[in-house]
Amino acid sequence: MTNAENRGLHYEESLLWEKEQGDTSGVDLPPLENMPSRTGVEQRKTIGLPQLSEPEIVRHFVRMSTWNYSIDHGFFPLGSCTMKHNPRLNEKVARLSGFAHAHPMQPVSTAQGALELMHELQHWLAELTGLPGVCLSPAAGAHGELAGMMTIARAHEQQGNAHKKIILTPDSSHGTNPATAVMCGYEVRSISTKGTGRLTVEAFKEALYKTDDKGADIAGMMVTNPNTCGLFETNILEISDLLHEAGGYFYCDGANFNAVVGKVRPADFGADVMHINLHKTFSTPHGGGGPGSGPICCTEELAQYMPVPTVIKAEDGSYALEGVDDRPTTLGVLKAFQGQFGMHVRALSYMMSHGADGLQQVSEDAVLNANYVLKQLSDDYHVPFDGPCMHECLLTDKKQKEYGVSTLDIAKALVEYGYHPMTIYFPLVLQGTMLIEPTETESKETLDSFIETMKNIAADARDGRADKFHDFPVSSPRKRLDEVKAARKPVLRWKEVA
Ligand SMILES: *Cc1c(COP(=O)(O)O)cnc(C)c1O
Repeated sequence: MTNAENRGLHYEESLLWEKEQGDTSGVDLPPLENMPSRTGVEQRKTIGLPQLSEPEIVRHFVRMSTWNYSIDHGFFPLGSCTMKHNPRLNEKVARLSGFAHAHPMQPVSTAQGALELMHELQHWLAELTGLPGVCLSPAAGAHGELAGMMTIARAHEQQGNAHKKIILTPDSSHGTNPATAVMCGYEVRSISTKGTGRLTVEAFKEALYKTDDKGADIAGMMVTNPNTCGLFETNILEISDLLHEAGGYFYCDGANFNAVVGKVRPADFGADVMHINLHKTFSTPHGGGGPGSGPICCTEELAQYMPVPTVIKAEDGSYALEGVDDRPTTLGVLKAFQGQFGMHVRALSYMMSHGADGLQQVSEDAVLNANYVLKQLSDDYHVPFDGPCMHECLLTDKKQKEYGVSTLDIAKALVEYGYHPMTIYFPLVLQGTMLIEPTETESKETLDSFIETMKNIAADARDGRADKFHDFPVSSPRKRLDEVKAARKPVLRWKEVA
């Protein structure tokens, strides 16, 4: 590494092992005297850690941290992920020492405030979904799906319905849906949404009554609403009625709750169990920015089967965590202790600071922003489904393909022009999809400048400048990767060059 690679205060960074110089040591300890080795032949000369000083190591990690693009850098329109701003107020509350330093093993009598907070969060989630049974412990959306589907499986098992082996799910569903159903021992039957982007009653009936036993083999369905095409399932009431008639349960994937929170209670369109991604709808940090959290909500009937613990309030006003002994019908414990408590604090802080009317405005603004982007880009990009969208809009590369520019090229061009790309090639029901979710937290100015960039990209493709796309990005520290090679021959281990 030479300083020539660190230009304009943008730092390249080699591995710590590559930085290490010769036979130096990062620490200065006096040699040990009169201390015979007790490790004998096992004694090691080195443990292979790079020998660098503290400032060198601090710089290494701080420089690398600046390579992470985040929602705090700029616009992050990743569809299906709800990358919204996380208000700093939530962080402040989560750092209050009574919350931050609570320990899951401390006596319940000394953690009453923390339990009250969880009880209050359960209450808000029950109100917003219309589903009174709440378990906060699942650690992410996918984990919530597992908790919810295990709850359904447990209910069928306890009710003598072990013959119900099929879970229905639309072909546009998020990959975690069929994966979860299979993990719970079910067979997945896909419902076609081809050409419509929505569930139709006809396609649903076709899947429900595929074998001629009037749906007796159907254990349930997993449906995201609004769905992964950014559309509200307008036939959901009729569909959930048909499902319930056949004795199936409706698992609602609540990852898109941001579009309807405060407007629609999923219980009212037939949901029996639902997970909520606190890190999407209720603004707690995502993945690498902090652990996620995926509580589930369910009907009173199913609540007896869902995992423990739930926080319960005794008649004397004290709070306790319900265990297996308190609710013997439960499927058991799915996650250590009570789940990601820090996320519970942030989510409740977000809910209470917005209030009921503020949460309604969240969904209204999220939908407005997505429709603004959709409308502004609908001349330049192919819009596969007519009419307004919910909180995210779906485009495809059909028009650009004619000029030799693909969705991947458009995503890489966005990187070149300083934007995190949208979600690409998902959902899988169409070719070359681009799913854009601006969220309610972006200003009109940000949206306008993103729209202008997207329009310029479309114009470049139209005007015969397709060639320039194939090398994009050219200004980023890592240029265009060979995606196929990266997937087929990943280099996962550093080897010293001899
Ligand atoms: C994000 C998402 C999930 C999974 O949630 P994680 O918290 O990432 O595990 C499931 N379904 C849909 C529709 C999603 O968008």
